[in-house]
Amino acid sequence: MLNDTICALATPQGTGAIAVIRLSGANTYSILNKVFKPKRKLATEKAKGYTVVFGTIQKNKELLDEVLVSLFKAPHSYTGEDSVEISCHASPYIIQNILALLTQEGARVAEAGEYTQRAYLNGKLDLTQAEAVADVIASESKAAHQLAMRQMKGGVSDEINTLREQLINFASLVELELDFSEEDVEFADRTQLEELINKTLETVKRLIKSFTLGNAIKKGIPVSIVGAPNAGKSTLLNALLKENRAIVSDIAGTTRDTIEDEIVLNGVSYRFVDTAGIRETEDIIEKLGIDRTFEAVQKAAIILWLIDAETLPNESDYLALKAQLQSHLTNDQTLITLANKTDKIATEIPVYAKDFIRISAKELKGIELVESALQNALEKMGYGQSSVAISSTRHLDALSRTKEALDKVLEGMEMGVSGDFLAMDIRQALHYLGEITGAISTDDLLGNIFSKFCIGK
Ligand code: GDP
Repeated sequence: MLNDTICALATPQGTGAIAVIRLSGANTYSILNKVFKPKRKLATEKAKGYTVVFGTIQKNKELLDEVLVSLFKAPHSYTGEDSVEISCHASPYIIQNILALLTQEGARVAEAGEYTQRAYLNGKLDLTQAEAVADVIASESKAAHQLAMRQMKGGVSDEINTLREQLINFASLVELELDFSEEDVEFADRTQLEELINKTLETVKRLIKSFTLGNAIKKGIPVSIVGAPNAGKSTLLNALLKENRAIVSDIAGTTRDTIEDEIVLNGVSYRFVDTAGIRETEDIIEKLGIDRTFEAVQKAAIILWLIDAETLPNESDYLALKAQLQSHLTNDQTLITLANKTDKIATEIPVYAKDFIRISAKELKGIELVESALQNALEKMGYGQSSVAISSTRHLDALSRTKEALDKVLEGMEMGVSGDFLAMDIRQALHYLGEITGAISTDDLLGNIFSKFCIGK
């Protein structure tokens, strides 16, 4: 497979100023030379990498296009192979014909993600970094971009590799004991091993926990607005959306549907979940009752509970409602209580409601307080600390399995099981950690990851 030379359009389909066609593999230069004529006499295969050459591409002796070709020489290219990028005019006709010429001369059209897969197979990137490439491309907010960039630069890999190295050392020591089993020696100090496993577990658990935040940043922090009918939920939603509606890129090929009900604050996007229920409150909430509210609540990281200040319940009713709501929440979720319609109340607010954020959704008063409350909640989730967060369910899954294996090691040590069992569980943990960075990989795993990329990446 890796002997093939592959080609693909790397820019979006359609008409535009410029399109870039990539060619990568051992025969890159021999194929290029058959279709491309440099303006000045120059042997592209002998030229230095990182040079750009101007010239023409002809089809049946007729000029097809004037192009610029960027030259990359193995191993100094994205894929690690000889490769070139042809910048031509972005006409579907030109693009199609250049690709046809390249395939005629022996190149093969690349599969989705094949460039990045080659970069991985040639050791330019590990798996987490390769996956981060897709996230970088898809990132639509500053925070999502930063998260993906950190992963692409090796943030997640560094953590995993450190864990692996320490475990490998110990696994080898434990395994060494097996060779001397007659003599009953212990090369691997059990107290140190236990310490190491505990330390490793701590990091693994931290990374597992970071998924909630990482995933939310990638997809938009899910927020739900709850409250009785007529509390002002849809008025608040509209007030929040009015100024901050998320701007969604509509670059062809990467289009996600325009995101309704999403706002961006300080580079982080917040996604209001289950807003259909809010917009048609009267009907739906009344029909489905309070259950529907709880369903929405479970999907959210932050819950805005809106109470009509004009008809505040008495304290014990409030506490009962709060307890009911909280019984559906986990510790990771943040409940923010808002008193709405404060424009309508003349009297003092009861003591129990002193900490409520007071707003008037209709008169757009206090909306900025709601926004800062959202941002504070995010900080409470761990955002802003520079530690890395994982955002892929594949990583989450592998980390959970690592944790199980490490728990087994600890259990085994407690029960005093023999070294070969310990070694087995340590190896198991190493295997799962290895799957994250791709130190251990299977064709299935790779196929699964790279097929989700676009062609040309
Ligand atoms: P929902 O059922 O919770 O979505 O409530 P709505 O947003 O539909 O609001 C119910 C009614 O309360 C509407 O007539 C709104 O105009 C009104 N309302 C909402 N917020 C305020 C507010 O802050 N002040 C006042 N005076 N009226 C409000």
